[in-house]
Amino acid sequence: MTDLFVVERAAELRDTLHRYAHAYYTLDAPLVPDAEYDRLFRELQAIEAAHPALRTADSPTQRVGGAPLKELTPVRHVVPMLSIETETDTTEGGAIAFDARVRRKLERADDAPAIEYAAELKFDGLAMNLRYESGVLVQAATRGDGEVGEDVTHNVRTIGGIPLKLMGDAPAVLEVRGEVYMRRDDFEKLNERQRAAGEKTFINPRNTAAGAIRQLDPAITAQRPLSFFAYGLGEVQGWSDMPATHAALEDALATFGLPVCEHRVIAKGAAGLVEFHQRMAGLRDSLPFDIDGIVYKVNSLALQRELGFRNREPNWAVAHKYPAQEEITQLLDIEVQV
Ligand code: NAD
Repeated sequence: MTDLFVVERAAELRDTLHRYAHAYYTLDAPLVPDAEYDRLFRELQAIEAAHPALRTADSPTQRVGGAPLKELTPVRHVVPMLSIETETDTTEGGAIAFDARVRRKLERADDAPAIEYAAELKFDGLAMNLRYESGVLVQAATRGDGEVGEDVTHNVRTIGGIPLKLMGDAPAVLEVRGEVYMRRDDFEKLNERQRAAGEKTFINPRNTAAGAIRQLDPAITAQRPLSFFAYGLGEVQGWSDMPATHAALEDALATFGLPVCEHRVIAKGAAGLVEFHQRMAGLRDSLPFDIDGIVYKVNSLALQRELGFRNREPNWAVAHKYPAQEEITQLLDIEVQV
């Protein structure tokens, strides 16, 4: 029998996490730093793992993102937009544990060749689905709750780095997934303008980007400089020579004219992942944009299919975060503004 304290603690965590997630995803105005949210999320996950009867369908651990804003038109994703499992161990042990899980699921012997991974940065922005038909951008949608997002095509058209028409021989339908973010220097300039105009300053690039993209008036979005990196696909039709690996896929997206981040490697086994994670930790502060970790993805798309999905996350990818840098006081000190 589960004792009453655990039942009550699980209910309390669900309520608190729902409140934090609503503020973060729907209002773009977080109440606590990510590290605090992640800590409570992991506590709830641990309780649910020990007491599966407490895992309710509405638990934040079973969901992706937040509810779409009512004012924006809903878009049902043809291919759901999922989350990524977070590796809790921020040391090299995190990369080693992920590689071990992948090898176990693929039933690879200890002496089998190393698995090849695509390792790339985890951009701190918001996920976007860009739908191109015959090479023309026809729709842009946020992730929302993973099944239904928000139509933000009017705002995405203001982002200079996103091609309205793809270059080359584009597939009949190509949904490109990536991250809309704000560069640090653009964020500073924006806040300088706010100060000069006697307006409130913005809290951080991530929430400013999310707030900007979900405006009803594209003229406001246009005043908030946004950028984009492509890192994946949604629905695809009519791509006869579609690449067979994630890394080659990103190369192809770059040839279509989409922005793809240069900081990415094909890593061999856990050692390759550790090397990239450590190298990027050294570069993190000098990057022109915020990242909160590294994403490892099994490079072969055939192996990705074999590994499949569970709940809200693919088995072939993991987010290996860096230790949190922010403090709770940071959020309390600054007035939140969308
Ligand atoms: P996630 O950490 O589960 O990761 C998935 C997301 O990573 C994708 O949707 C995509 O937007 C992004 N991403 C960035 N770079 C990527 C790449 N190279 N490849 C693939 N995806 C990439 O994200 P989530 O489910 O949106 O949210 C969880 C995160 O949000 C947690 O880290 C949590 O701290 C934060 N959060 C904070 C609060 C708060 O109150 N502070 C509330 C809710 C969530």
